[in-house]
Amino acid sequence: MYPVIARRSRGLSVGINLNPDTTCNFNCVYCQVDRGQPRREGDVNPDALAEELDRMLSWVVDRSIFTHPHFAHVPDELKRVNDIAFSGDGEPTACAVFPQSVRIAARLKAKWSLHDVKLVLITNGSYLPEPSVAAALDVLMENNGEIWAKIDAGTEEHFRAVNRAKVSLQDVLDSITSTARKYPVVIQSLWMRLHDERPAEAQVHAFADRLRDIVRAGGRIASVQVYTIARKPTEPHVTPLTGADLEWVASVVRDRAKLEAVTY
Ligand code: SF4
Repeated sequence: MYPVIARRSRGLSVGINLNPDTTCNFNCVYCQVDRGQPRREGDVNPDALAEELDRMLSWVVDRSIFTHPHFAHVPDELKRVNDIAFSGDGEPTACAVFPQSVRIAARLKAKWSLHDVKLVLITNGSYLPEPSVAAALDVLMENNGEIWAKIDAGTEEHFRAVNRAKVSLQDVLDSITSTARKYPVVIQSLWMRLHDERPAEAQVHAFADRLRDIVRAGGRIASVQVYTIARKPTEPHVTPLTGADLEWVASVVRDRAKLEAVTY
């Protein structure tokens, strides 16, 4: 459990890390998790998670969390709780207790009357249609949920270079499309310089066109978040994009896919 003031949340986000063992079927070049380090073994214990989240939410409700020195310099307008987010050191939906964890978070959110607080899933999207994950999404969305799914590429070539996943881009797009037909999805897209080169125009166009394909297939995309690296990744050839280049990517999304795009 890790409470953070998140730029995109404009407030406190209570993060739930379901992958202390760093399990992920992607191996993104920009990932901040150093998988060369020894793994923390052991499954997430749902009872311990419930106890920890319950305690954390009690501090949120009585606002004692904001008296912690860690939040001493946080502006008053950000001293609000925006969400409980399933995210962390791997892919949350790959965790066997993800469905149970969503139910726990929904129950405790209701217990503490945090009806406006969102339940956010930050995902690489590849497991979304699996029956147990899809059922958990139903619970998430019944409880002020949001699904933030990652798409960083528009071609298999770029996907292989950036996400280095065990699945294809088309698998991920199919998976996100099927979920987006049921629920609106926020797309998160990270762009960067690789070996000091900005992304090729054709790659950015292809990315926008894949988003347009999702919409044409009946999927709903609530918005597209275009952002870059905020902290140093483990791979040295990966560096942040400039603000102007991020705006360029967002403008291509607006023009070609006719979607709302914001940069961070
Ligand atoms: S999907 Fe997320 S956790 Fe997995 S490798 Fe990529 S950035 Fe890291």
